[in-house]
Amino acid sequence: MLAGPTAVGKGTVSADIRTRYPQIWLSVSATTRSPRPGEIDGVHYLFVSDAEFDEMIARDDLLEWAVVHGRHRYGTPRGPVETHLWAGVPVLLEIDLQGARQVRTTWPDARFVFLAPPSWDELVSRLVGRGTEGPEERERRLSTARVELAAEQEFDHVIVNDDVQRAADELVTLIGVRNR
Ligand code: 5GP
Repeated sequence: MLAGPTAVGKGTVSADIRTRYPQIWLSVSATTRSPRPGEIDGVHYLFVSDAEFDEMIARDDLLEWAVVHGRHRYGTPRGPVETHLWAGVPVLLEIDLQGARQVRTTWPDARFVFLAPPSWDELVSRLVGRGTEGPEERERRLSTARVELAAEQEFDHVIVNDDVQRAADELVTLIGVRNR
């Protein structure tokens, strides 16, 4: 399971794994936020309404869920994760710290990996450089990131995202999958 502060590049590392290591299955989270340009429903996220998210919670369909950055809800659909694990397929969850803590309670044997930025300044410049968030949203995300960075020691492994492919390779090695 991969967690880490906002804008550290979890999405980029996951995307790289999706391309280069198709033998690893990436969980598709449900979210109540709207798609960013280029994001595809069912591939990057399941984009759902608040009412649909409520239903998923009521049916106990989510392995974990959290309000991220104090705004939208994000959660991991339980069914597909279990199906892949039962089939012996390695599963990667890319979730926030609150979600990681919930999964730790449910599955203490899961491996918890923290993706860290090379430095705080680098994290801020990545967030500004992405340009997808306005100043208010950016501040909100940075304050989440400050809290999340402090939680690094709760994790089994820390990977520094100095280079996307190198970080992805390190993660894949931890998962125990070799490239063909
Ligand atoms: P973004 O809106 O930038 O795609 O994602 C915002 C944050 O939500 C990221 O830190 C990401 O790790 C987290 N996130 C994405 N999917 C899930 C999920 O299923 N559960 C939880 N708890 N967090 C998630």
